[in-house]
Amino acid sequence: MKILLIEDEKKVASFIKKGLEQEFYTVDAVFDGKEGLTFALSGEYDLMILDIMLPYRDGITILREVRKAKIDTPVLFLTAKDTVPDKVTGLDSGADDYLAKPFAFEELLARVRALIRRKDAEKSVLLKALDLVLDTQRHIAERNGTEIQLTPKEYSILEYLLKNKNKVISRTILTEHVYDFHFDPDTNVIDVYINKLRNKIDKGFEKQLLNTVRGVGYVIRED
Ligand code: CA
Repeated sequence: MKILLIEDEKKVASFIKKGLEQEFYTVDAVFDGKEGLTFALSGEYDLMILDIMLPYRDGITILREVRKAKIDTPVLFLTAKDTVPDKVTGLDSGADDYLAKPFAFEELLARVRALIRRKDAEKSVLLKALDLVLDTQRHIAERNGTEIQLTPKEYSILEYLLKNKNKVISRTILTEHVYDFHFDPDTNVIDVYINKLRNKIDKGFEKQLLNTVRGVGYVIRED
């Protein structure tokens, strides 16, 4: 799950980013409305968390542009403006939820989960490949009924590969999905994670699910 966070208070942004990353989310944090709009319009996110008062473009303007571009990603407003008219304006411009600062991180997390759950309501929470099952709500993997402990990065990689089952995913795409935009795509860290993941899900099983396609990328294959 990839989240875009637009928040100009860097301390707040870093606190939220760290907290969400511990909960298995990948977070791109940007600090002004202009850059924020560019990122938001990429349509690459599962959820956006927007501050309202931002340099260059405010959160409501960003949201209107996003909805105009037919991007229906859930949006949570996070702001110090907590008067009733402000809430109404926020929700009327197409936000899905609203949280006033200061807030408890637990509450932010609960709202993030609820918004993503609502978005995924039609989709199954279980991703499967043969006897490998990933529960995307509880963040638990099992193979042949045995629970597998995953780190947040391993989880993100596995989730993405399972969502795209039987399709070869390039290292670049996978890296982009699992890391924020500051990450240097030329390092081989993704291969390190893939090896760890392979050890966890395939070791001791006859059928190897996680396959490397040399020079191209990776694929979870059932057949
Ligand atoms: Ca602000």
